[in-house]
Amino acid sequence: MAPDRLQRVADQVYRLEDRFVNLYVLDLGKIVLVDTGTRKAEDHIRQGLRELGKEVEDIAVLLLTHHHVDHVGTAVVWKRESRAEVDLHRIDAPVAAKRERRRTHGVEARMKVVAAFMGLFTPFMRGPPLETDRLLDGGEVLDILGWPVEVIHAPGHTLGSCAFYAREAGILFAGDAVNGRRGTPEPPIAMEDVAASRDSFRKLTALNAPLLLPGHGSPVRRG
Ligand SMILES: [Zn+2]
Ligand SMILES: [Zn+2]
Repeated sequence: MAPDRLQRVADQVYRLEDRFVNLYVLDLGKIVLVDTGTRKAEDHIRQGLRELGKEVEDIAVLLLTHHHVDHVGTAVVWKRESRAEVDLHRIDAPVAAKRERRRTHGVEARMKVVAAFMGLFTPFMRGPPLETDRLLDGGEVLDILGWPVEVIHAPGHTLGSCAFYAREAGILFAGDAVNGRRGTPEPPIAMEDVAASRDSFRKLTALNAPLLLPGHGSPVRRG
């Protein structure tokens, strides 16, 4: 029997590891995905939905933290198969739609290596253009199947990076603005705007969310 795909991290919230990246499955009757993994994550997600007794048609909303290919990789599939709504910040949307390109910088030697590696690697992961249905600004509170979710613009890792804060549930989906690689919050290792990413990291960690769910690494719990 295949290992369980989903790791329960909170009531109605599950983590799905797609090799080096996380995505999160919210079972709110219908399904919300916070990020969608690489293109290769498709089968994992189908299997994860089966574990919840759900179908692909149940996917209603895709909350995307930023435009990177390891986060938006399967979004086109769910948009096509279940007409899931794609939510992404308006600054990152043109990149996901392949109308714009951006450069990522590493600030230290090891990060330059990572950035160069990503540059080599991403053409193979790149998917078809993805059109956004709801353009996010930051500052708004979305009603996600009855859950109030605050959109926090957290630029730096990408210029349109967002975190999603379900304040009542005490859960902050941080995307790549905060890394959880060692189980503690760390700044991102590659970014489009280095100074902005530092500010965003401080802003998000200052929220002291009881549960911070990063794009990479382990959940970070407080208290
Ligand atoms: Zn990223
Ligand atoms: Zn990432």
